[in-house]
Amino acid sequence: MLPPPTSEDLAIIFGFAEGKSPYVPKPRLLKDETERMDCIANCIAYYKEIGRGNEREITYAKFCARYLPAVMDRFLDAPILGLSGPFQPELYELVNTSLFIMLVTYHIPYFTKYIRSQKPVAARGKVFTQVLAERIARFGAFMDLRKELNPPDVEDEIEVFTDLLVEALVLFSIFVKFFAKYQEPIKTETRNDLSRYLIKWRQRGWDTSLQRESNRVFADLQGMSKELADYVEAGRKQLKARDKCAYPGCEIRDNLRACVKCSIVAYCSTAHQKAHWDAKDPDIPAHKPTCFETEY
Ligand SMILES: [Zn+2]
Ligand SMILES: [Zn+2]
Repeated sequence: MLPPPTSEDLAIIFGFAEGKSPYVPKPRLLKDETERMDCIANCIAYYKEIGRGNEREITYAKFCARYLPAVMDRFLDAPILGLSGPFQPELYELVNTSLFIMLVTYHIPYFTKYIRSQKPVAARGKVFTQVLAERIARFGAFMDLRKELNPPDVEDEIEVFTDLLVEALVLFSIFVKFFAKYQEPIKTETRNDLSRYLIKWRQRGWDTSLQRESNRVFADLQGMSKELADYVEAGRKQLKARDKCAYPGCEIRDNLRACVKCSIVAYCSTAHQKAHWDAKDPDIPAHKPTCFETEY
């Protein structure tokens, strides 16, 4: 059985680092985006199936602290095309290794730090939601075209595409809600374009998760209800993780001082910072293993 994937394994799969990884059985195949996606999917599946929450959070935190700007850049510059399969650029520009990793790491506090960062290294992240919206709409046009062309096995193809589209909509919804404050607003033209497809997708009953996600995103784009806005505000605070003392159970919110190394957490006192740093209580995940310096 494979060992738990580390942030180094992820970096090697992305091509950000060199070396050997048990999750890359044939390194020469990594020229192909579909191969990369398989390798990343195996890492993600490991933690989904086997659990190990704490180890997973450490792996993802370390990877995000170091490589988040590179992951974002890789998404924004259309990724390397797959060499195998019938797939098209419209697919890979949306569904790729970057999207996969973002879906499992957006809750890591480094993500919020990156999105809020004003440093040049994080500048490109400001347009992520807009670009994602454009690509989802282009993907909609692409799916329509495939149906029109009606190649053999188009139904199977559409089923695969639909699953991928649902994943992209999940991420989009999260960014629209939680990160809207820190990102460029979506252009009206893109909003209208995307809404057209969302209306179509939620009316077609072929897939309940597509219906559900289309409804959700459509509501996000229309503006928020009071309940949703409250929920988003709570979620945003949680993602920021700096408005309350990070020591589990401490509710103090005033006069906090951020951890100088990572600045993703803050404390009410030196006593709580020290107690959290290498906490031994299994119910209190220590801060030390997830504390990293970042460029952003
Ligand atoms: Zn405290
Ligand atoms: Zn720290």
